[in-house]
This record gives sequence, structure tokens and C-alpha cells, in this order.
Amino acid sequence: MTRKKYCLIFLLNLYLFSLFSEQVELNDLLKEIKAKMRWNPVTETGIIEFSRNKLVFKLGAPWVLLNYRELIPTSGVSRGHGTLLFPKDTVEKIKSAVYQEKISSPRVAVILIDPGHGGKDPGAIGTYKIDGKTVRINEKDIVLKAGLMLQQMLSIKYPDKRIIISRSDDTYLKLEERTDLANNIDLEEQEAIVFISIHANASFNKKSKGFEVWYLPPEYRRDLLNPDSVEEENKEIMPILNIMLEEEYTIESVILAKEIMKGFEEEVGGITENRGIKEQSWFVVRKAYMPSVLVELGFVTNKEEAMLLQDQGYLQRLIRGMYNGLCRFIDDFENTKGFTE
Ligand SMILES: [Zn+2]
Repeated sequence: MTRKKYCLIFLLNLYLFSLFSEQVELNDLLKEIKAKMRWNPVTETGIIEFSRNKLVFKLGAPWVLLNYRELIPTSGVSRGHGTLLFPKDTVEKIKSAVYQEKISSPRVAVILIDPGHGGKDPGAIGTYKIDGKTVRINEKDIVLKAGLMLQQMLSIKYPDKRIIISRSDDTYLKLEERTDLANNIDLEEQEAIVFISIHANASFNKKSKGFEVWYLPPEYRRDLLNPDSVEEENKEIMPILNIMLEEEYTIESVILAKEIMKGFEEEVGGITENRGIKEQSWFVVRKAYMPSVLVELGFVTNKEEAMLLQDQGYLQRLIRGMYNGLCRFIDDFENTKGFTE
């Protein structure tokens, strides 16, 4: 008998067995294994989360997938009684996966700070006459100062984390070089990386002012999983897994964006405008396969704000806001095992 046939008969047996065996309702299962589930009604897939581990299942599919890697055959999950029903054999397999998997806590191991522009690319420019002299304010200079300040503060607070800056002087970097840097950092199994791009804004409207935080919208799909890290038989479900993984990064990016926004608001909310959290397909963020945000510190095209951004004290307050938000994000992430508790 070929392996394929054997598999089919095996699955059929499991299926028939499940028809006659007891089913466990979703809530009872989650309670029992102390887990949470996220459900995607479009792909009819769910992620059961326990610690930082993920168990993925798809309605009707004869498998559950552990940590996007290990495919465990089961008789599948069905719908009924207004909830999801897990056959006994599936429950047993999920439970043994839960108890076998060593529970380790995720941590943010790397913070990558990316001051925008640099070198031949000045970014946004504001030119002003001050006391008869022409003063040119470049985005690239402000964001470099800001990035270095942030790096220093984070290095003191987190001596055990790698705090990396994409440029520490007036160097020109291609966008690909920035994101390659981020994506090529070596991480251990439970280690996470956070990517922060720092920019300053420009507008034709000279009155525009304020800070913004951007994150990646969920509709931008891309391959997050490296096909080499997925076993051959799992390749056909990779598109679904990529969508799920991306949703996870989006959720984390939104939480990070909100914390940084709160930090800005606390520090300079009374001085300039809070322009809110926005979503955009910024190239530099889109290509970073990790929770990532892009902050706009303020407008260099608004004279008043340009002067503030030039001011060491004001810039320090902005960065302190960003730092406070980031630290809250990291501490929450590490204390809740990656927002799963
Ligand atoms: Zn910029």
C-alpha cells in the first residue's frame, strides 16, 4: 500500500471515529488548556495561543499546525451548536502539544532605530530667515539627533538588549539597505525585534503641525514565512499562514503605535497637535517583517515647529515620549508572554 493511500484510510478512520465520538466545544477547550483563540472568518482559520506558542487550525482541515512548523494530523474541527466543535482526538492532540511544548517567555531582543534619509537625501527641508540670516532645517539632521538620543536612552534602560541604529552619522542608505538590515538580524526562537523609523514631516500648508505615528495596514500581503523553514507538505497552506502571521505583526504594530502616541501626548500634547495614528504602506515599514512603526516628529515646513525641532530641550521631550511608549510596549509584551495573557 502506498503511503498516500495509507494516509487517506487513516484519515477516513479518524473522521468516522469522530462522527461517533464526543465533541468538545471551543470554550470548554480554551478553559481547559488556559488559552485564547483568534478567529478569522474569511479564511475560516483559528489560532489558539498558549504562552508564545501558536496552534493553527482550519475548519474542516485534517490537521492542526504547531508554531507554523509541525503539522499534526487530526480528524479536524467542525461547526455546530453555534460554536466550533473539536473532536476528542483533536483535543487530545492539542492538549499533548500544549503540555509537551516547553513554555518559554518571548522577549524583545533587538530594537532597531532607523533615522530616515541621510547623506545626499536631506528629506524634508524648511528654509527660514532668522535675524537676517538664512537657516536651512533638514529632516535628516533632526531625525539623526532623535535616533541617537533614543538609542542612548534605550541602551541604559536595557543593557541586555541589542539597540541598533541604521545610521549613526550623515550617511545615505537605500530603503532596501535599511530593511535588509532589519530582516537579517539573527534571532533565537523566542526573541522578537521591534523596528522604529523616525521621520519629520513636510506640507505645502505652512500651518500644518504635529506628530503622527504610522503602521502597516493589514491589507498589504507579503510572504513572511521563509519557504525553507516550512516542511514540504505544509507549503500549500503557506498563504494562509502568512496572512495569520501578518495579522499578528499588525496587532503588535498597532499596540506599539498607540503606546508611542500616548508617550508623545504626555510630553508635548499641550504644545503641538496630535495628528493621530495612521496606516500606510510605507515602503520602509512594509518590508520589515516584524512589529514596526514610523513616527513623524513634526513639520519642518511650519516655522514655529521647525524651531521647536531644532531646540534640544523640545527634541528631548519628544524622544522621552517615544521612549516611554516603547518601554511600556516592551514591558507589556514581555510580561504577558507576547500579549497572549
Ligand atoms: Zn522622511
